Amino acid sequence: MRNSGTTSAGRRPVVEVIDVTKTYPGGGGVRALDGVSVAFEAGSFCAVMGPSGSGKSTLLHCAAGLDRPDSGRVLLTGQDIGGLREPQLTQARRRVGFVFQSYNLLDALSVWHNILLPQRLAGTRPDRDWAREVIRRVGLTGRENDRPGQLSGGQRQRVALGRALASRPEVIFADEPTGALDLSTGREVLGLLREAVDTTGTTIVMVTHDPAAAAWADRAVFLADGRIVTELADLTAEKVAAQMMAVTVQ
Ligand code: ADP
Ligand code: MG
Repeated sequence: MRNSGTTSAGRRPVVEVIDVTKTYPGGGGVRALDGVSVAFEAGSFCAVMGPSGSGKSTLLHCAAGLDRPDSGRVLLTGQDIGGLREPQLTQARRRVGFVFQSYNLLDALSVWHNILLPQRLAGTRPDRDWAREVIRRVGLTGRENDRPGQLSGGQRQRVALGRALASRPEVIFADEPTGALDLSTGREVLGLLREAVDTTGTTIVMVTHDPAAAAWADRAVFLADGRIVTELADLTAEKVAAQMMAVTVQ
């Protein structure tokens, strides 16, 4: 099994998930992940698709070190994070950014302080120049002192993306980042994710069940019942939708 070196496209894998299984206690012991292996290469944008309950969020959480697999390995830039204990695990998680459907901003803090919070919590010196540049890129210049409560859903998600970008992570995991947004606002956020990949070489792994959202990515992997059943490149919304139908009726 490939577990080091480069991927088939010859680029460096940032995240490698190797034969990971995960069963949650209770619920009749459903296997949320059942032997999943997948690599995400540097500077790529991958969509993770599949029906509800197919294991997409669990895969993201295991790949990001937010949850532990029962077996298998997760390598983050070659480092096996499975055996790590605190504080090394916290260190490893700092190399990862997360964007959630529900934004997860702190309402008491301004846009500026939300964006710098992870660096403050990490005890690193905030990179203010880069934070200003990130705020410009996500279109929030002039809104730095606003609280999340003063912003629209799309603007809040742009703050969340800015927060992820500000700490220059190796990879950003996004779980249904447009799930709570209307179509045109969702498109804006997807455009910003695409731009981060194209201009900064950010690596992005995005869960979505929307074929039009997935079409912004370079590649899509499809989960069903905790297994990767297929993957697609050269995405179009039509190709992705047809594959989703095939996976759902299997
Ligand atoms: P998806 O994101 O594709 O909808 P999930 O990864 O959330 O799927 O869930 C995969 C399976 O694991 C589902 O059967 C779900 O009910 C179960 N599951 C997810 N999280 C938990 C949890 N915290 N406790 C128990 N079961 C869970
Ligand atoms: Mg989910």
